[in-house]
Amino acid sequence: MLLTTLREEVLEANLELVRRGLVLYTFGNVSGIDRGEGLVAIKPSGVAYEELTPEQMVISDLSGKIVDGNLRPSSDLPTHIELYKHFPSIGGVAHTHSEFATAWAQAETPIPCYGTTHADSFHGAVPVTDRLSSAEIAGDYELETGTAICRTFSEIDPMTIPAVLVAGHAPFCWGPTAAEAAHNAVILEYVAKMASHTLSINAESRPLARELHDKHFLRKHGRNAYYGQVKTQ
Ligand SMILES: [Zn+2]
Repeated sequence: MLLTTLREEVLEANLELVRRGLVLYTFGNVSGIDRGEGLVAIKPSGVAYEELTPEQMVISDLSGKIVDGNLRPSSDLPTHIELYKHFPSIGGVAHTHSEFATAWAQAETPIPCYGTTHADSFHGAVPVTDRLSSAEIAGDYELETGTAICRTFSEIDPMTIPAVLVAGHAPFCWGPTAAEAAHNAVILEYVAKMASHTLSINAESRPLARELHDKHFLRKHGRNAYYGQVKTQ
């Protein structure tokens, strides 16, 4: 079987979304990439999570050609591939229709950074894509969704804001691995929920001061990060 470890990682990341309450029925999908092989492992389309096995993960190349697997891949595979092609540092992509992040996507409103929980993971507001045009919707829709995400990040380093809201649809998140992409999807949902609560308490709430935002993001992710334990090799 091709890419045994990657299949297991991708399955585990998909199950993490279920455990964290981000997935209803078969909504959502996580993939991971083996950059050396140029191959992507993704959840199959429409299979119940409790029945998923590593063998059922579908293996595709970066042209979308299935190289291993009997099941159809998640229909969002072309979106995932577009992100892997344009964001060379990412190793995993997670897509959910989690309640609060999807509400912000439907409102076509970027999620401002109201607090340090947001700043710890996202170095700026979580952006929203433009709406897809009629031609993009009628054409290669899933690929165009990926293109719209990449356009949104033309001026943003995707490793500093590992999430986007697709207008009228839902979030896509990413990270160095499939597990970290799923982790970011969980954090995004939490941040989206708290931003909604913040605005419901005070509709005039102001985004966090830039200094505090930078402080929190950079102590975890910057070159001189010092949060957590020192990693030993
Ligand atoms: Zn979707």
